[in-house]
Amino acid sequence: MQMKGPPSSNALPRECPLPPPLMSEYVRLIYPHSKTALHVVAVGERVHGFLTHWWDGRAVPCKGPGEECWYCQQRQQPRWNGYLNVIALPSLRRRILCITEGAYRHSKTLRDHDGTLRGKGLKLERMGTAKNAPVRVQVGTPASQVTLPSDWDLTATLCRIWGILPTFFNNRIPDPEPAPANGEGKRQRKARKGGTSDD
Ligand SMILES: [Zn+2]
Repeated sequence: MQMKGPPSSNALPRECPLPPPLMSEYVRLIYPHSKTALHVVAVGERVHGFLTHWWDGRAVPCKGPGEECWYCQQRQQPRWNGYLNVIALPSLRRRILCITEGAYRHSKTLRDHDGTLRGKGLKLERMGTAKNAPVRVQVGTPASQVTLPSDWDLTATLCRIWGILPTFFNNRIPDPEPAPANGEGKRQRKARKGGTSDD
């Protein structure tokens, strides 16, 4: 079925002569792409849930109920997604881990530790070779010791990723922690080789 985009509109495009200044490190979402296990260390204590719609290859927030949500109006059923601030291994980059409803429901150790996750290691694996094979999350000792940054504003960061009220949220996002010494180089090499997940 051909998906319909937003309704046509005569509103003028928003001109912006120069790229806006970078406010802080851009924190991206991660989730397991392939069968290779993904290892992270939790920075936040708990998983934050949001209702989202899967649209054009990515999760977008549901603004519902009713009239407010354009995606609901297209009869797209909202789905629950959980989000958790983490440090990705081995890159040591700040990321937001995205956990589907199925993964959350089927991961007992995650449910048991939700609320006291900070400092614990999470291992995420796809249970099969298909791109959308179910994911299992296991909580335990971190795969390596890391110095944890203080927790950051997950909702504000998600809103920035989703393009919601950027000016309002600018001031809520703290400055980044200093970049780890051994970070980016390895990560980029891994990404070029088609590595697991940390991008
Ligand atoms: Zn909706």
